[in-house]
Formats: sequence, C-alpha cells, structure tokens
Amino acid sequence: MAQPAWQDPEPLALDTAPVPEYGTGSLADLLPTLVAGQGVPGFEPRIAELAPADRNCVFLIDGLGWEQIKAHPDEAPYLHALLATSRGGTGRPITAGFPATTATSLASVGTGLAPGEHGLPGYTARNPDSGALMNQLRWKPWTDPHTWQPHPTVFQLADRAGVHTAQVSSPDFEHTPLTKVALSGGTFRGRLSGEERMDLAAEQLAAGDRSLVYTYYSDVDGKGHRFGVDSDAWRGQLMYVDRLAQRLAEQLPPRAALYVTADHGMIDIPFDEQSRIDFDEDWELRAGVALLGGEGRARHVYAVPGAAPDVLTCWREVLGEQFWVAGRDEAIAAGWFGPRIDERVYGRIGDVVAAARDDVVITASQREPHESLMVGNHGSMTPVEQLVPLLEVRS
Ligand SMILES: [Zn+2]
Repeated sequence: MAQPAWQDPEPLALDTAPVPEYGTGSLADLLPTLVAGQGVPGFEPRIAELAPADRNCVFLIDGLGWEQIKAHPDEAPYLHALLATSRGGTGRPITAGFPATTATSLASVGTGLAPGEHGLPGYTARNPDSGALMNQLRWKPWTDPHTWQPHPTVFQLADRAGVHTAQVSSPDFEHTPLTKVALSGGTFRGRLSGEERMDLAAEQLAAGDRSLVYTYYSDVDGKGHRFGVDSDAWRGQLMYVDRLAQRLAEQLPPRAALYVTADHGMIDIPFDEQSRIDFDEDWELRAGVALLGGEGRARHVYAVPGAAPDVLTCWREVLGEQFWVAGRDEAIAAGWFGPRIDERVYGRIGDVVAAARDDVVITASQREPHESLMVGNHGSMTPVEQLVPLLEVRS
C-alpha cells in the first residue's frame, strides 16, 4: 500500500530487523532441547530438528559465526563439512540472541532463557538500583550475582535430575560471577590448553550414563577483535579450533552427540569517520543522554529524566538508515530481547536501543578507549553477527 503523501517519511522500519528465533532456533533453546531428550523434568524440546542423545556435549567457540565458517572452507575443512548436515540435517544455523555478545549469549545458553528473562542485556547495562553502568562480562562494579540473575541454570536442573554435568573451560573463569550465573551446576574443571579441554570433555561425557558437558574456547574472538576476521592471526585460530573440534568428535563415547556452536559472529569495521561514529565527539548524539551502554553495534542509550523522546528522535535523525533505532518499548514489542521481560530487567534496557545495520560502529573514544580501537566487532542482528553454527556429530 502506498504511503499517504502528507505523512512524514518513516524512519527505518523496525520490522526489517531480523529478530532472533527465540523459542525455536536460538542459543537459549539448545540446552533445554538436549536435556528434554535426556528426560530431565520441566523441559520440552524446542529445536525440532535435534534427535535425543543420552550424552550431550556443547563446544562453544567464542566469536565463530556461521558466515565465517561458510567463507573459510580451506581453514576449517572439518567444521565446513558439517555445515550441510547441521541442525538435524536441515543445514541451517541458529540465532544468537540480541545483543549478539558473549555475556548475553553465555547466559542464554546456560539458563535456557532469552535476555529479557535472564537479565544480561548487553556488554554493559544500567543497574537501575545504582543508576550506574555495569559491565556484564567483567562484572564491574561487583553486583550480587544471585540478585542480578536469580533463575536456575539448565546445568543445575540437569544435575539435580541425575545427569552427570560438567563445564570444561579456562581455569580463569572458574570463580567468576558470569560463570556462576550462567554455568553453575555439576563440576567446573579448568584446563589451560584447548587440547586438554577436548580430552577432558570427552572423558566427562563418558563418565555418566546420561551426561551434559559444556566446553569453551575464547581466542577466535580475541584475535578477531584485535586484528580482524580478515587477518592471518584470526585464520590461524580458525585452523586451530577446526582441529580441536575434530579431536573432540573422534573421542565421543557411545550414544553421544556433540554440538559445535558459538556465541556470535563478527564483522570488521574500517577505520574511517563514516564507519566509526564517535559518541564522545558528537554533541547531537550526546544531547540528553545520561549513560551510554552496550557496545559499538548494539547500544543501550539511557536518557536524563524526561529526555527519552527527544533522544530517540535525535538518534533516528543522526543515524538514518545505518542503525535500527528503537525506543525501549518498541524494541521489547518487536521481540529483540525475547518473548518476556522480567520486571527487574526492564530498567536495564536503554530508553533507546540502537542496533547497527550497516558496517558501522558507535565508538566512545574517551569512555571506552580500548573497545573503540577494536577491528572486529559484534552485537547487532545482521546475519554475520547473529547467525551461529549448530554443527552436530554423533558417535
Ligand atoms: Zn567479542
């Protein structure tokens, strides 16, 4: 239908944003589907394509998006060959969730809940009780983890139901609040090298008649942020995790399924003024803003009292079609954070939420000097960030 001539031109329609497939094909749906297949009470399968297995292992590779595996058959021959048979043979990816960032995604994986319920809605978010920003990945400033994320994890519920449950990751993460809120349940085992983690994950998988094992590797993301996904350092990491996945797959005990997935993909952003909009140098974007949260491609904007409508208008005008810009209630209604928003989570979401559509980023050179220099970025709903693999190997 044609627009009536008198209407103002609409800002970029929010319904063009590809919202994550919460409930049927997102990271939050993976563990509930696996433990439903193991007979853990309270869970129903949500990803229809996955057949049950007695022993389930999830290998989460930080930052390795679906599109990146697709684009690198030479560096990742093992993973690439699994693309066609992923998601129970449909050859389709799943979606990370919004924002496509590590803290949010790990909480979605571990709790089986979308961000609107687990309450880690971005890299940084406002704590409505203190009024200050809180970094969800580094958990700074320290905030009581149980209050921040009170829901039990799927690991805890599986463990209580008698499923042998373990997490195998870096020893650095054993006692972090993020591990506590996202990955508690069963036993955490720290191992330094990727090879040791794969070997121990396979051993743990075999340790129960029914088992649920999670293992993790971080440095694909690290190299991507620092050098970009078009760098030799990043490609070297891709080759390495390809071998790790194969090593784990070859050690699967009987009646086991391995799922290789990721928390988000990544996109390189050029170093020029059009591609990197500096919030700290842009008085229009700063007007009426009390706090800038989130990260470059997924911003939570917290307005000073009374200024939210003006901030929304201004951000829409300044950013044009480069970003999907939504008011808080619009973003919630559009389903960006999932089907439900817990009351304690509502005020953690920005008055304005801005998700990058083009190859751009909103940096903050003074507030976030380190993050503003990253080559590779992620957070938004574009396919390269949002689509993650769900590659399946069965013994
Ligand atoms: Zn990252």
